[in-house]
Amino acid sequence: MGLDVPEMKELLHPTMPLQYGDQDDIGKVGGARHLSSVLPAVSSAIGHPIATPVHPSPEGLQAALNLPDADSAVVVLVDGLGFWNLATRAGHVPYLRSLLNEPLNQPPMTTCLPSTTVAAMGVFGTGTCPGLTGMTGYTQLNPENGLISQMIQFRDALDPLDLQRQPTVFEQLVAQDVRVTSCGLPRFRDSALTRAALRGSVYQSANHSRQRVLDTAKAAREPGLTYLYIRDVDKVGHHHGWDTPEWIAALESADALLALLHRSLPKGTLVVIVADHGMVAADPAQRIDIACEPVLNEGVELVGGEPRAVMLYARKDVAPEAIAERWRTRLGDLATVMTREEAIGAGLFGEVDNRVRPMIGDLLVLAHDRVTLVDSRIQIDAATRLPGVHGSSTVLETRIPCLIDLV
Ligand SMILES: [Zn+2]
Repeated sequence: MGLDVPEMKELLHPTMPLQYGDQDDIGKVGGARHLSSVLPAVSSAIGHPIATPVHPSPEGLQAALNLPDADSAVVVLVDGLGFWNLATRAGHVPYLRSLLNEPLNQPPMTTCLPSTTVAAMGVFGTGTCPGLTGMTGYTQLNPENGLISQMIQFRDALDPLDLQRQPTVFEQLVAQDVRVTSCGLPRFRDSALTRAALRGSVYQSANHSRQRVLDTAKAAREPGLTYLYIRDVDKVGHHHGWDTPEWIAALESADALLALLHRSLPKGTLVVIVADHGMVAADPAQRIDIACEPVLNEGVELVGGEPRAVMLYARKDVAPEAIAERWRTRLGDLATVMTREEAIGAGLFGEVDNRVRPMIGDLLVLAHDRVTLVDSRIQIDAATRLPGVHGSSTVLETRIPCLIDLV
């Protein structure tokens, strides 16, 4: 059964609110079909259910996601592989297409907001929410030094273990004597992001993607959980735009790796393929440079977040509502502007720890359509003109695959 891809207008529609927790409510996205559910659900599938503050019932999640029991499970995260980005080009990817054609795999899953790697990795690795992990965007305020920290490398940030205090699902499985293996690039072994969100596993590194797949298949011969990360779809998408020949080639390579994995795994292995977010094509005509617009700067101390999900930190003597008013007047329907209280109240970050609160901007601005909100004072020029972007709440950015393959 093929999939009908909605029209772009529909895919660029903003969606809110996302919902954290085990329950699925009609009209709300998230619940069990949320990135935060994946590792708790898989932990239940391998017989070692790990409950989290957001997901008290891993068994319920396993049932909601239709995951079969298995002694050995492989979870693959394909960076940037949005559900509808994939479905649009399913014709190029025979293995992924065969999975997408299964009705079981057709309801898209939802990632977190902002729909970006840092926040999503925290949510994925801990089975919780950005309000608890403290990983709220590409850049965010470090309340201890007053600087905007870049959270991919944790530049100017708190120590990863100090910032992200939720136990990871990997750690909790290992504490139950379950084998957990991560297969990735050597340089990510001790990266800040790995230590914050995915600590606890035995890290098996290899420089070549094919070798990482074979390592994954080998590790999966023993009961337990194996994690594989595939990077290039996101990287190429940012630099060339998604749905370009370069992006399609990266998608085809990912498909070939996943098909190799399928062929190399022992029978009975459970494979779950997910992503951290999707991607939209930035429209150069809809690029707004905050640096060039005094009305957008008035009262703003620091700018964080990313081009599709900006976080604004107000000067001490300025009411965030006043800034919100100016941004709403200037942007109209180009973006949704929320105060921190509105965003938290709408459940955007899930439950929020008091220590995480000041890291979130006084204002959150989610771009609509193909708008980007950049700041040429603090971003290098190329970063303000990336052809592929994500972070906001559109269907294209927030819907991710959860493809299940029982080998
Ligand atoms: Zn990503």
